[in-house]
Amino acid sequence: VQRNRGETEFHQAVREVLESIGPVIDKHPEYADQKIIERICEPERQITFRVPWEDDRGEVHINRGFRVEFNSALGPYKGGLRFHPSVYQGIVKFLGFEQIFKNALTGLPIGGGKGGADFDPKGRSDREIMRFCQSFMTELHRHIGEYTDVPAGDIGVGGREIGYLFGQYKRITNRYESGVLTGKHLSFGGARVRTEATGYGCAFFVQEMLAARGESFEGKQVVVSGSGNVAIYTMEKVHQLGGTVVACSDSSGYVHDENGIDVELVKQLKEVERTRIAAYAERRSGAKFVADRSVWEVPCQVAMPSATQNELGADDAATLIANGCIAVGEGANMPTTPEAVRSFQEAGVAFGPGKAANAGGVATSALEMQQNASRDSWSFEFTEQRLQQIMKDVHARCYATAEEYGMPGNYVAGANINGFTNVADAMLRLGLI
Ligand code: NDP
Repeated sequence: VQRNRGETEFHQAVREVLESIGPVIDKHPEYADQKIIERICEPERQITFRVPWEDDRGEVHINRGFRVEFNSALGPYKGGLRFHPSVYQGIVKFLGFEQIFKNALTGLPIGGGKGGADFDPKGRSDREIMRFCQSFMTELHRHIGEYTDVPAGDIGVGGREIGYLFGQYKRITNRYESGVLTGKHLSFGGARVRTEATGYGCAFFVQEMLAARGESFEGKQVVVSGSGNVAIYTMEKVHQLGGTVVACSDSSGYVHDENGIDVELVKQLKEVERTRIAAYAERRSGAKFVADRSVWEVPCQVAMPSATQNELGADDAATLIANGCIAVGEGANMPTTPEAVRSFQEAGVAFGPGKAANAGGVATSALEMQQNASRDSWSFEFTEQRLQQIMKDVHARCYATAEEYGMPGNYVAGANINGFTNVADAMLRLGLI
């Protein structure tokens, strides 16, 4: 805490992992001897830089850019870039730390990293977004590469931003190095299903958790928070799997639609018009918009928080449990507070932590890297099948590890222990580096 003062989200993420791995250290004293925990909590490299840019009126702005290259024991650093005014070192480090274990859980050869800027893309024109991305990459390009560090998108960074970032990387380096970024458009090396992957993967993971209890999505009412990339494709897949999403949100409030959210309308509003979710209720009869309230007050059997960290607290958990919620799958990173996680676990709710439930995004990014390396392009069906199999495997690993350590059904412990031991074993073999 002293060394990472004020980085509250980072402390929260580290505490959550360390609370799970006591039994691992008892079983593997060599991890303690070689100070694996101390090493794993210290990023290999942290980069902070100035991002100057000019808005459409000619006014100059200065933002702060970050890249935390956390752990490369298993492969090149891999993790998204977030553009949001709340971004600072503590958020980038919490995300980077989580990413290490998530990536290890996928079974694919990728290390952990994360980055971003305290830039607010809301209300900015396309030209302003382009100029910001170009300035950001003008510094970032020195630190990344296909074999070094491979960023992707996150909050505020989608296909449009990845395009501008890749364009500038290519221009500065004079290298058509497709594998340097993932989440690219199909026209310049992107992979089919990457856009959908985190949301689809989360729905697949929850499907596995439900199946483990003899349940399915069929006939279930589902609430999803957010209405960005993860939320949209979670909703799409939940509908395909037989559930009905009755509410989704953004930072201004939520929409409730008992007939089932019209996902195409949400795509139109969020991906094309880039407007607020309130507009949904204006265009869809029977739907209502509720400003400034928590979406978790809408009754459901399955909750899928897909917006941001600490968006589902103890009071929300109590409401969900009272309303008969039986499963929670985290599409976002650390959206559920530690108190709320405890409430769900004590109430016997199946709880899928983000490290496992939202690993489909980064897993499909690794598939994009494979395609770029082989100059190949796979079909949608093939890539989706691979994604579904990866999510089944992630679920099976969490499930089996929790059983092995005497905590059946505890996916938090299963994910943390499995991810940690994969990385720790590699670190031991790589020597003191
Ligand atoms: P988007 O920017 O596409 O969407 C974010 C959504 O969350 C928007 O609806 C946004 O509403 C809402 N939101 C963001 N910040 C806040 C806030 N402080 N309070 C309330 N609502 C907020 O991002 P993604 O869908 O890509 O990411 C969502 C979550 O999923 C993040 O936690 C991210 O780290 C995680 N994730 C994403 C992956 C990916 O592949 N994209 C992979 C794995 C995890 P508004 O527009 O009003 O801000």
